Amino acid sequence: MKTDKGGLIFDIQGFSVHDGPGSRTTVFLSGCPLRCRWCANPEGRELRRQLLFSAQKCLCEKSGCQRCATACPRGAITVSGGMPKRDASMCKGCGSFECARACYHEALRLSGRWYEAEELMQVLRRDRQFWSAGGVTFSGGDPLFQKDFLLDVLKRCRKEAIHTAIETAGYAETADFLEVMSYIDLAFVDIKHMDSGLHKRETGVGNERILQNISRLSTSPWNGRLILRIPVIEGYNDGAEHIREVIRFMKMNGLFEINILPFHRMGTTKWTQLGLEYPYGRQPPGSEQKLKEIQQLFLFCDIACYIGSEVVY
Ligand code: SF4
Ligand code: SF4
Repeated sequence: MKTDKGGLIFDIQGFSVHDGPGSRTTVFLSGCPLRCRWCANPEGRELRRQLLFSAQKCLCEKSGCQRCATACPRGAITVSGGMPKRDASMCKGCGSFECARACYHEALRLSGRWYEAEELMQVLRRDRQFWSAGGVTFSGGDPLFQKDFLLDVLKRCRKEAIHTAIETAGYAETADFLEVMSYIDLAFVDIKHMDSGLHKRETGVGNERILQNISRLSTSPWNGRLILRIPVIEGYNDGAEHIREVIRFMKMNGLFEINILPFHRMGTTKWTQLGLEYPYGRQPPGSEQKLKEIQQLFLFCDIACYIGSEVVY
């Protein structure tokens, strides 16, 4: 998606050691075309800044703080029962976010900040002195959602010989996908489900475009490294028959590396802070035993399978 404001980024993590080789900087870009019901970064799904509210941090009940309510120019926040309540319908188009600015306790905080490409490069150059054989990883949200900004930054990285990695759902126009990949050294692309109907049920979109993009990339002259990824969800995509489908697809496309990620509920708090109910709040965390069984299925077919952060670089 094109904007004239640069790129919206909801987090930048230095010293990241799980998103590519070495220690690196991971940049989380806002916006995603999917709506995975298990999403661990719900604050990054929209291409707009969002307010998160932590009731635990709020001092309203303890000390009578009402700073956010007083600061709001639209009177969108009222206090009742010792808690500020925001009428989100009144916030549409506000953009001032005076409420979050007024909260000294970070009980009400704003996620996301717009960066110019050069401004982000300055952050990467600063971090670069601390990388050990590292680089930058673009994550999200889905970084492809802000393709023009991403390309702008990637071209600058290439000029400065910065190693680039991407974590993506791969849901984009094929031409855009391939263009972005031409500036990427290492790509993690998700396969959430091989059945398009089941894919759509849990993510909001079918899988045809994703599988096509993976196939096209694997047969293109691109010389980066492609590692597929499955976020393993019990009872959804962890069955042996489904894993065999993934293996068939990988073999057909000459792909031999996969990273399986255990489901976790670490995003629950953020769903609550956004005022949303987490659909996977009762889903059990991934079992080590199950992941090992899945790993064996891949290994048996000569596919390197890494569990969680055990990827070999
Ligand atoms: S986002 Fe704007 S309108 Fe909404 S509560 Fe904050 S200051 Fe008020
Ligand atoms: S300003 Fe912050 S701490 Fe004070 S009432 Fe609002 S959210 Fe709570």
